Amino acid sequence: MSVDDKPLNFLEQIIKKDLEEGVHQKLITRFPPEPNGYLHIGHAKSICLNFGLAETFGGECNLRFDDTNPAKEEMEYVEAIEKDVRWLGFQWAGEVRYASSYFDSLYEWAVHLVKHGKAYVCELSADEARKYRGTLTEAGQNSPYRDRPVEESLDLLERMKTGGFDEGSKALRAKIDMAHGNMNMRDPILYRIRKQAHHQTGDKWCIYPTYDFAHGQEDAIENITHSICTLEFADHRPLYDWFIENLPVPSRPRQYEFGRLNLNYTVTSKRKLKQLVDEGHVSGWDDPRMPTIAGYRRRGYTPASIRKFCDMIGVTKSDGVVDVAMLEHAIRDDLDKNAPRAMCVLRPLKVVLSNYTGTEMLTAAGHPNRDDLASRQLAFGAEIYIDKADFREEANKKYKRLVIGKRVRLRNAYVIEADEVLKNEAGEITEVKARVIENTLGKDPEDGVKAKGVIHWVAAHDCAEFTVNLYDRLFTDAAPDAGGKDFLSCLNPESLLVLEGCKGEKSLLNAEPGQGFQFEREGYFCRDEKSESLQFNRTISLRDSWAKIENK
Ligand code: ATP
Ligand code: MG
Repeated sequence: MSVDDKPLNFLEQIIKKDLEEGVHQKLITRFPPEPNGYLHIGHAKSICLNFGLAETFGGECNLRFDDTNPAKEEMEYVEAIEKDVRWLGFQWAGEVRYASSYFDSLYEWAVHLVKHGKAYVCELSADEARKYRGTLTEAGQNSPYRDRPVEESLDLLERMKTGGFDEGSKALRAKIDMAHGNMNMRDPILYRIRKQAHHQTGDKWCIYPTYDFAHGQEDAIENITHSICTLEFADHRPLYDWFIENLPVPSRPRQYEFGRLNLNYTVTSKRKLKQLVDEGHVSGWDDPRMPTIAGYRRRGYTPASIRKFCDMIGVTKSDGVVDVAMLEHAIRDDLDKNAPRAMCVLRPLKVVLSNYTGTEMLTAAGHPNRDDLASRQLAFGAEIYIDKADFREEANKKYKRLVIGKRVRLRNAYVIEADEVLKNEAGEITEVKARVIENTLGKDPEDGVKAKGVIHWVAAHDCAEFTVNLYDRLFTDAAPDAGGKDFLSCLNPESLLVLEGCKGEKSLLNAEPGQGFQFEREGYFCRDEKSESLQFNRTISLRDSWAKIENK
């Protein structure tokens, strides 16, 4: 995207002005995930925004793990996040950064605040501290420890650091204003005792900085020019500014807030997504039904489709809910244009062509309007499979598929006519007997009786057999977690349907893991990248069937 193509969003306007006026020589942004879960589609918006702005304005974007909470963070998440950012098509400037590598500076700055009478060690319990804090309408009260001598706080802080006290017994707090209208300014906690090993710093620390104390200073250390975050941090901005004003930090980042992405039929909270994984409602963080980047990848979404979606929804200063159909449209559009075509019969029914002998190879286009995609060789023989849904013994005129005594065209092949059915003892159709109408390859029948419709098929003697996973939306309710609702109560029981023994074109045996296709008349599918056996995942149906349901 070039800056001149379309109207600038509010962040682009600010950055353009700052660069033009020389406020900054170079834009530096960052994407700062906490490694306590996999990235979801909301994070994709933040990634596209931060990395995208850096690209647009010739700047740089850092990837920084905000790993200030050792309790919930794991290396698995760190690795998954790096993979996801790269997969989306972005590269961070220099090495990956960790908030934990700034722990020494943060500690020095905490000491600096104590020395300047701007922080103190408080010994109120969590419950007591809550009472002292006041409410939105009432001022808080000063902690009895607030005015203890600087030397005493320094000594206690040092001993907190070296493990001398129990968790919860003490905390370091900023000394700001217990009557401040903004609760975040009422002597917020800077450091807590946590006797827990950290995935980067091991056992070095027994105290950890709070997110609020760490975040702005980390940005300052990295010379971030524009700290972009979601709206819920607007109330924290005065506190971040207070730290920057009261500390000898190397730069002064400015924070700008934008509206977070909320999608209907989706939950975007790592905590809730983790619950889905931990309780086994899905097979893992990369289950193709998960709104995680790893889940979309395994489902067959392309990086381009997710970037396109993020571009379409834009950046605003207010929160809103985006229709998930927009994301589905983005991937459908991408795959329609780019995915090679193939035929796959999901629920096979054998058709025996009584007048056809031998076998032959037929040619079909790789894509209806993409000559650059190689054409396909399709085996044809006397036994083929069609989908059970494409045959009826009798039907009215609206049914344009195979019916006894009627004709249908086999896609990329001949017109056939059905003669009779064979059934098992249970009365189920096991086979259809039919005939090829001669000389109908690419031509209508010479007797003038045209085929009504076109169906897909696969030759029985030369095909691939595999499992297909039909995925659908994970929730049936458009707002699964709105108003404190239990999001588990609207899990879609039909979000996964596993079909075994599907028959596809032989060439599908060579599909690369993750490779996407349009299975003609069925939808878009990709080869599962994880399973050892050959499996295809439905990325998205050909058309939006949910829209119809909603409009009924
Ligand atoms: P969650 O609430 O799911 O845990 P989070 O905001 O706590 O998300 P972080 O790892 O702290 O997760 O987020 C990293 C970055 O991604 C932050 O800058 C955050 O503002 C941004 N982000 C998270 N969720 C969204 C969202 N839904 N829309 C846009 N940006 C988001
Ligand atoms: Mg967070």
